[in-house]
Amino acid sequence: MPCVSSRQRYRLRNPATGREVVIEAEPGKIYLDRESEGPLEVVGKLLPLAPSESRLPWSVENLRFCPWCDQLAQKDLNDCPTCARRMGPLTSPAGTG
Ligand SMILES: [Zn+2]
Repeated sequence: MPCVSSRQRYRLRNPATGREVVIEAEPGKIYLDRESEGPLEVVGKLLPLAPSESRLPWSVENLRFCPWCDQLAQKDLNDCPTCARRMGPLTSPAGTG
């Protein structure tokens, strides 16, 4: 098994636009919103494996890669828990529609 670095993830919010992002942040650092370049404020801290918005257990068959940031996300989530972008519908390899 590869050793994956697990840095603490935080939910950050841009107070000007209300846009929220989830990134691996370090305490005390200032992060800027990519779109508006405004400063982000920390809203909360995410537990490393907390399936707060997903009921699926954190196992390989329930995960997929986010097309935006290539981080793993549970399949029943519409928004990536890492970058908070919408991941779109799942593509089924079987092609049954
Ligand atoms: Zn993502």
